[in-house]
Amino acid sequence: MSNDPSSASIAALRGEFSCAATEIGFLHAQSAAILRDLRRGLLLCSLFYLVFGIADIAALGLAGALVPLLSRLAIPLVAMACLHYARRPAATVRAPFHAASVFTLCWAASYFIVIGWRPADILLHAMSWAVMAMVIHVLIPNRLLCAAAIAVGASLAFIVLAWIQHAVPTRHLTSMTLLLICANVFGVTVAQRHARMWREQYWAQQVLTNLSIRDPLTGSYNRRHLNAGLLDGEIARARRYRLSLSLIMCDLDGFKKINDSHGHHAGDELLRSFAGLVQAMTRESIDTVVRYGGEEFLIILPETRLDGARELAERVRAAFAAQRVELDGGLSLGTTASFGVVGADFGGAHAVTPQGMIALADQLMYEAKHAGRNQVKARQLGQRLEAVGRSA
Ligand code: GH3
Ligand code: MG
Ligand code: MG
Repeated sequence: MSNDPSSASIAALRGEFSCAATEIGFLHAQSAAILRDLRRGLLLCSLFYLVFGIADIAALGLAGALVPLLSRLAIPLVAMACLHYARRPAATVRAPFHAASVFTLCWAASYFIVIGWRPADILLHAMSWAVMAMVIHVLIPNRLLCAAAIAVGASLAFIVLAWIQHAVPTRHLTSMTLLLICANVFGVTVAQRHARMWREQYWAQQVLTNLSIRDPLTGSYNRRHLNAGLLDGEIARARRYRLSLSLIMCDLDGFKKINDSHGHHAGDELLRSFAGLVQAMTRESIDTVVRYGGEEFLIILPETRLDGARELAERVRAAFAAQRVELDGGLSLGTTASFGVVGADFGGAHAVTPQGMIALADQLMYEAKHAGRNQVKARQLGQRLEAVGRSA
């Protein structure tokens, strides 16, 4: 989730997040609810629409009502086809909206057939079309503008048809027109409010989740997020697809002395600069940087072999050793860090546990400390220890 508040802005007309990535994230997170609403909406509409076939029979007799009844019967079939389309395993997050648009278009077309066969009942049709327009806006999950285009467009066509037919007095036609305008205005208003509230609620949830899994000082993920199965998930994925996975444990050198000599604020700035450097040098949305302890960080590198992870650790080590943090009063501070790197290859059958990988990375980091600090120790799981990169 982006920390940029502009990612949370909602376009007034569309009722969607202005940021396309946030909207897609929202749709992914809500996909189960959207599908459930689509199923309920389409089933309810189909059922009631079929039941109203009784009115066709009452008005036209069983034989005369054949065409409108057939057009009503087609709607549950369209609903089933649309639900099947939206629920395919390969369906995109927008598929339920495409399904909703197709269904509502067919529903409107079918209703115009019923109207054509019962022109004398135009006022009754106006009432039921007003309900249908509300349902299209509110009950069937669709993009707001698509739903509005279909419901308002069909309402306009209905009004034009009624005026052309001259079947009822002008005062009734005027009331009917006003009724349809009201149904659409209320429908759009409720749909907009719902779309906005749903997204605001989602965003508030995202903010809370983000706060609970991030370390406020450095912006890295915290131990809570790690313990919630982050590494277990990566190991399971690596095992499933037979991939490599590496870990780097980092610890700042002589950090207590910096706190003791320059105060905790200076220490905090150094921590922030280290975390910023690691975040900038790792792949966004792929690698994960966790603040493991006070001045210890764990970097999880999916699909990365030991040599790539070791090279990254070496680059971070060299960059951090060369970096200075400028503090108030002209004070310029810097320190070094020690690194333990573990690589695991899941091409074969290995009994790798998250705890085992972290323990080995920790052990290697301490070996780097004991060997003089500011260096990288790396080992492939099941191989002998090797040391690289020691700066002067
Ligand atoms: P070594 O080179 O062996 O790693 O020594 P060190 O001094 O870095 O390690 P030690 O474990 O002795 O001290 C770590 C210090 O980090 C002690 C603790 O007060 C400090 N620390 C932990 N969290 C924070 C924090 O959030 N901010 C600041 N400023 N200091 C912190
Ligand atoms: Mg330390
Ligand atoms: Mg430490």
